[in-house]
Amino acid sequence: MTQQPTYTGDPKAHPISEFASGMSGSCLCGSITVTIHDPDLFTKRRGHLCHCSNCRKTSGSYVAANFAIDKSAVEIQDKNGTLKSYDDHATGSGKKVVRSFCGVDGNSIMSEAELYPDKVVLKMGLFPRIPAPEAEAFGAHKHEWEETLEGVVQFETARGGKKLEG
Ligand SMILES: [Zn+2]
Repeated sequence: MTQQPTYTGDPKAHPISEFASGMSGSCLCGSITVTIHDPDLFTKRRGHLCHCSNCRKTSGSYVAANFAIDKSAVEIQDKNGTLKSYDDHATGSGKKVVRSFCGVDGNSIMSEAELYPDKVVLKMGLFPRIPAPEAEAFGAHKHEWEETLEGVVQFETARGGKKLEG
């Protein structure tokens, strides 16, 4: 039986004080719940926006809101067994990225890169609130009409690589 999750609506309706020890989010059908155990989700900038073409495809948008975090801090519940994955080999590094999604509603859940075996990249659209991002990846692949967010580190391509000026 699938039970629809509570509508999370306006992020501002969820005071940051609700997330003092972490935050849970779910896919649209409610089968998959992701919990981040981290007391500092909203005490500083966290996560990154990614403009790479693979993230654009899997997010269905011009940018993906991602959060790379230690796997040990993340709990995944898959109560109806709907979590599916796709092995993405068409990556910039040539190394495999396993992209997981809900097989019922198609929501992107996370990606796991062979390059970073201890990390998981969560898709932040699942959550009631998204922390202000600390960086943007593949800044060189933005559309001309996209604006640059103030105070956000811009990487030309992958995070941790060459930064863009200004
Ligand atoms: Zn689902």
